This record gives sequence, structure tokens and C-alpha cells, in this order.
Amino acid sequence: MKANIMLLPGDGIGPEILTAAVQVLDKVASKYGHEFAYNEQLIGGIAIDKTGNPLPEETLRAGEQSDAILLASVGGPKWSDPSAPVRPEQGLLKIRGHFGLFANLRPVKTYPALAQHVPLRPDLLEGVDMLIVRELTGGLYFGERKEQGDGADSYDTMYYSVPEVERVAHVAFKAAQKRRGKLTSVDKANVLASMRLWRRTVVKVAEDYADVELDHVLVDACAMYLMTRPASFDVIVAENMFGDILSDEASVLAGSLGMLPSASLGSGTFGLYEPVHGSAPDIAGKGIANPIGQFLSAAMMLRHSLNLETEASAVEAAVDAVLDDGARTADIAVKGGATVGTAEFTQAVIAKL
Ligand code: NAD
Repeated sequence: MKANIMLLPGDGIGPEILTAAVQVLDKVASKYGHEFAYNEQLIGGIAIDKTGNPLPEETLRAGEQSDAILLASVGGPKWSDPSAPVRPEQGLLKIRGHFGLFANLRPVKTYPALAQHVPLRPDLLEGVDMLIVRELTGGLYFGERKEQGDGADSYDTMYYSVPEVERVAHVAFKAAQKRRGKLTSVDKANVLASMRLWRRTVVKVAEDYADVELDHVLVDACAMYLMTRPASFDVIVAENMFGDILSDEASVLAGSLGMLPSASLGSGTFGLYEPVHGSAPDIAGKGIANPIGQFLSAAMMLRHSLNLETEASAVEAAVDAVLDDGARTADIAVKGGATVGTAEFTQAVIAKL
């Protein structure tokens, strides 16, 4: 197949890990007979430096011509002055809104080889393999807010409409159908009106998915269960802020921030794929960044936007095999053990492919 992919390297380690991911994609293309055309554009701090805008119009236009976007990371100390008129992260919020990306998918699994990096008992980690679906363009982060300055009352509003909940629920149910057929809907229906609407709507959507087993868990209890019985979860669907917090909590189960991919999806096949971590300015330019989160994001892109399931699974299997062989970037190194850099790890994944 032919596919147009927009690349957004961004800042910090972004260019290093995205270059590595393109090498992996090139290997996939040559092995399976595809043609991937890349269009590299600006976002984040580098875009501010070059154009004054964290998300230039040219980037948006190029994205509109693409089948998918592969993004690395944005931000860094150079642009982190809170009083600055423009900030790199504004580019991220804007691009999600522009493309109507309302569902954020974050898979989290544990790697037995990395168990020593996880602050939980190894027996609790056996079989942890979950997908968190976070609603991304509604809820508390997008409701009406008032900030009246020093000393005066301020508020934020958690607001949802039925269609907003329905569309993210459909994404979650469909994902559960392709996985182990279990969906946990997270809410706070015992206190919040918007969360009672959330629960009623999810129950109604469930009528279309008789093959999925649905349960409801309050967000506070869910935070606890993620640590006490993480292997019991298959797919979790949650309100924007709840999903933000729970997915960061769940990320510790993988052993390193560098391992985790994500996808932001709208109603069609188009999507934006990026690792969960930031631009890691402390290690930028050293050639030691862990590229796994970026590789697994590329695999999610192959699966969701390009419908290339075999190729996606092959990338995931290659990463697993390289880890099984013992290759470790510095963030996941065994204490006192040898480490490899980004380039060497990438070559190992390509060799497995
Ligand atoms: P971070 O995720 O960049 O780094 C946290 C720690 O994890 C650092 O010690 C870093 O070295 C390490 N780390 C992260 N990714 C790694 C990888 N692939 N390999 C090895 N180690 C890795 O978070 P931070 O330090 O809080 O933020 C740095 C900058 O990134 C800030 O400007 C922040 O705003 C931005 N940020 C961007 C995104 C994004 O682009 N989506 C997300 C989070 C933070």
C-alpha cells in the first residue's frame, strides 16, 4: 500500500527517536512491499523558534493531506517560562482539537524482563496487559471555567453531552471486542451529575456490544485496583482528567516511561501517534534515549490508521524479542549491566524484523 505520513519530531530527544522509528518503518515497507511517503513539519519549541507559532498553518495543511501523524515530543527548558505568550504544549492541544481527536488510547503491559523496575510485587504483574481509553476533548479540562485572580473564587466545570460519551464509549467497546472482551467504565456517579450521565450512556451503548462484559468502577477505587489487581483489567474508559491521572499511574507498571505508546483517534481511521513521555531534555543529544515508546506508537499507527495488523504485530514482536535478548537502553538497564544506545537498539529491532 501507499501511505502519507506526517512526521513531527519536535524538541529534545524527539528528532533522535523519530529518526529511529522511520528506519523501522522503512524496514517494514521494504519487507512487506509498502510505500511510505514522509512529510516532516514543525511543532513545539522548534516551531516557535522558526515561526513564532507552536503549530504553524503549514503543519496543519500538511496533516490534512496525510493518512496519519507520527509525533515525537515537544517542550524543554528554553520555552518553559510560564509568562511566555506562546508555549510548545499549546501546539499539542491545538492539533488534537483541529483533527477532532477525541479518544486517547494508551496500552500498558508489563515486561517480565523489566519487573525489577516496577515498584510492585512481581506476582501482581503477571499478565498485566490493559488499554486505557481516555476521553480527550471534553470533561473537566474543557468545561466552562472562571479564574478571577488573587483571592477571588474560581471554578472549572465537568460537562458532557450524550454524543460525546457515546463516541468514546464506542471506541472502547470496539477495542474490547478485539481484545479480551472486558470493559471497565470509570466514573464518579455517586457524586457527580455529569458522571451519572456518563454511566447511563455507557450502559445504553453496551446494548450494541452483547459480546463485551461491562463493569463500572468509581475512579477512586480504580486508582487502588490498578495497584492491587492490575492484571484484572482489559479495556478501561474514563473521563478526560480521570483518564489522564489513571494512565500516568498505570504507566509505572511498564517499568519505564520510555516504553509507552499512545494513539489519539477521531471518528475515521486518521490518528496522531506519539510516545507518552516528554522531550527528556536531560538526555537529549546523547544518543541514549529509549525509542520503544516511539516504535510502539508507529505500530499503533500501522494497525489503526493503515490497517496493517500483521506489520504492527511484527514491530511489537521485534521489540519484545530484542528485550528478551537482553538489550537495554540506560533507562531500563539491569543494575551494573551493559547498555546500548538508541542507534544500536534500533538496529537490533530492524534485524529481528
Ligand atoms: P519527560 O517525560 O520528558 O522526562 C521524565 C524523565 O524520564 C526524564 O528523566 C527523562 O530522561 C526520562 N525519559 C523520558 N523519556 C525517555 C526515553 N524515551 N528514554 C529514556 N528516558 C526517558 O518529562 P519532563 O522532564 O517532566 O518534561 C520535559 C519536557 O517535556 C517539558 O518541557 C514538558 O512540558 C514536556 N512534555 C512533553 C510531552 C509531549 O510532548 N507529549 C509530554 C510530557 C512532557
